Order: sequence, then structure tokens, then C-alpha cells
Amino acid sequence: MAKKAYIHTFGCQMNVHDSEKMAGILLREGYTFTDIPQKADLIVFNTCSIRQKAEQKFKSELGRTKSLKRKNPFLKIAVAGCIAQQEGREIFKKNPQVDYVLGPQNIHKIGSMIRTNEVMVSIEDNPEIGHIDLPVLRKDGIRAWVSIMYGCDNFCSYCVVPYTRGREKSRPSKNIYNEIFKLALCGFKEVALLGQNVNSYRSDIDFESLLKRINTIEGIERIRFVTSHPRDLSEGLMSCIKELPKVCEHIHLPLQSGSNRVLKLMNRGYTYTDYMKKVERLRKEVPDIAMTTDIIAGFPSETDKDHISTIKALRAIEFDGIFAFKFSPRPGTKAEEMGEQISDDIKSQRLAEILDIQDEITLRKNKTIEGKVQEVLVEGESKTDKGKMTGRTRTNKIINFCGDNSLTGQLVNVEIVKAMRHSLEGKLVI
Ligand code: SF4
Repeated sequence: MAKKAYIHTFGCQMNVHDSEKMAGILLREGYTFTDIPQKADLIVFNTCSIRQKAEQKFKSELGRTKSLKRKNPFLKIAVAGCIAQQEGREIFKKNPQVDYVLGPQNIHKIGSMIRTNEVMVSIEDNPEIGHIDLPVLRKDGIRAWVSIMYGCDNFCSYCVVPYTRGREKSRPSKNIYNEIFKLALCGFKEVALLGQNVNSYRSDIDFESLLKRINTIEGIERIRFVTSHPRDLSEGLMSCIKELPKVCEHIHLPLQSGSNRVLKLMNRGYTYTDYMKKVERLRKEVPDIAMTTDIIAGFPSETDKDHISTIKALRAIEFDGIFAFKFSPRPGTKAEEMGEQISDDIKSQRLAEILDIQDEITLRKNKTIEGKVQEVLVEGESKTDKGKMTGRTRTNKIINFCGDNSLTGQLVNVEIVKAMRHSLEGKLVI
């Protein structure tokens, strides 16, 4: 009987895609998959250390595997991802039930690790990661994540990524093109190009040229990319969004703070004015573009005045949506060492204010498209709105509407009937 693997993924889209790759390798090794850890022969935790909460959640889940291992001594447990990278062999001290530890640059080794009965650790820097093409097990047959680069060179003072995922390494454009070409042959309609800082992609060609090449692939109808760094958002990229028909009118552009003082402490490499100039230019080029962002509430030494600058920025820019979080000190980062850490109460208050204001803006912006007809890529039946189909507009807004399953995977026109904060209600236009 085939062995069963249970994969638990924490954190960002990068980790979700890494788990798809590990699943692809495990499938090749003859594994099937289960959602029940008690039934698994192999448990893989793909961990995230970007915030304390995700780390605590993982550690309590890992603790529970001790009793599973007592009941089944043949059970193998692997810890992958950013916490694996940061803690390495230390993980074994508190968790002797763990068999394998592998950092994000070494997930390709999971196949060879599980073939041994030895305890193994692989957290070394892997300069070749951009050249290693892995099998990917994607559940969705419509939208696919595709890695175009790994790591980051930016060293924002609060972030662990340059330490856990290493320095930037771009994949050769030919490998990316071939992967997407095959996805198109398998019926995928949308690709999202993935990297910590996609607009600094550079291998044999630059990011704009890569978008132009992918735009020629027949069968692929939509191209998205995430995440962009504001400093590297070039006029060439703005022109690509404007001119390439498959590149969607949505950009995720993390602002983090509206205060120049805080942006400097964060080592973000731009001022609020620099950011604003790019936003204005982008909106001039692509007037209907949807913009989303990330905001950190309560960075060390953030004053009320800094916080008000962030509120003002949100009101001035009017993002379509934001991901806002309380600052969480991460081991080994400069921000962890900074004095004047903000109390949790103040961080919570500031976060609540940010979210309230943004909710109001998001709803107002969504209301402006009521009555309009938008192209929607249908993803399947809605999980939240029973009996309806769900999909996304080109601007990445979720829309639910009446229709049948035969529409899954198709591009259809839908009239926006009612706009809410987190989704839209629509009517199929035939
Ligand atoms: S750009 Fe900054 S926040 Fe983003 S991954 Fe790189 S270091 Fe982290």
C-alpha cells in the first residue's frame, strides 16, 4: 500500500508553492496524501517565521506529534521552511521526534532524505536553487503559482527573508517559459509569477522582457505577479501593465508605513513622496488599476505622529485592500534590537484604527464598480456563498454569481450587482 504524507503549510504564498513542490517530489516517491496526521507515514511542516503567531502555532502543532510518534515509531517527521533554516539542529533538542530539517533553499532534498533512516539536516546556502526545476503538484487546474526568483537582497530591518531564503537568485527565463507553456497545455488559464521582489528579476532577460515572453503563450489568459518592491517599480513595468493584454490590472505594492522616519528605520529604500509619485504615475498609465498593500502597525519607536502619517497615506492613496499586521520582533533582525518597542495595547489600537479606515475605503471603492460588467475567470463553486459560482476579476476582486459548474475555468462577463467589503455579488451576462 502506498505510504501517506500529511503536509501542513504555514505562512505566505511562497510557502504554499514550496509545499506544492514537496508534494510533487513525494508523489514521485510513491506517496499519496492525507488531511489526517494520525493516518500519515510522513508529516511535513512547512514553517513560517515572519510573525511570532505563526511560529507559536507551528510549535504547538509540532509538540502534538510526540504522542503520534510514540504510537507509531515508523512515523517520519520533517520540518521545512524558515524556522527550519533559523533553528537547524536546535529543533531536535526540544523535539527528538523530528527526523529531517530542511531550509527553504533545500526543499528539493526531501526525496533523498525520506529514503534514508537517518536523521538529516540541510540548511546550507544553495546558490543553484534558480536552476533546480522541481515537479509541482497543483490542486487547482486553472490558476498556477510559478516561482521566478528566490531570496531577497533588501534587508528590511524587520524581515527574516534574506537570512532564511538567502540572496536573490533568478530562474533562467527559458525554464520559466517552458513551465508555463506546459501549464497552458494542461489547461491552466492564469499564472502568478512569484518572488519576494519580482520586479528586480534579472537572469538572461529582465522582468519586463519576461512578461512580454509569457504574454505570447497561447492558452494563458492572465498574468499576475507578486510581490513588487516600490523602489523597483519602473516605468517599463508600468507600460507592460498598460500594454500587455494578459497582464492584469492589479499590483500589490507594500507601503508598510506612511512616515518617512519609520520607512528609514525599516530600511525600505523609499520615502512616502517617492511612493506617491509612483502611484500617481501608475494610475495615469493604467487608470483602473487596483492597488493593494501591506502595513505594519507599531514598528519600534513609532509615535502617534508617525501613525497619523500612515492613516493619512491610506486616505490619500485609497488602496483597494490592505494586509495590516502588528509589528512582531523577529530573531536576528535589526528591528528586534531597536529600543522603544511599542506596547501590545498600542499596537492593537493602531491596527484596529488602520483596519477600520481601510474597510470604509475598500467598501467605497468596490461600490464604484456596481452596475459595471467585468471579465471574470471562474474558479468553481463558492465555498462561502452556497449554490453560487466564484471567480476573480482582472483586478483580483472575488465575485460570486449564479451559474453552473460547466463555467469553471472559463472567462465570462459578469455584471456587478452588489459590492461588499470582501467580495462582490454579480449576474452572469450572456
Ligand atoms: S523586500 Fe524587505 S520585506 Fe520583502 S522579503 Fe525582502 S527584506 Fe523582506
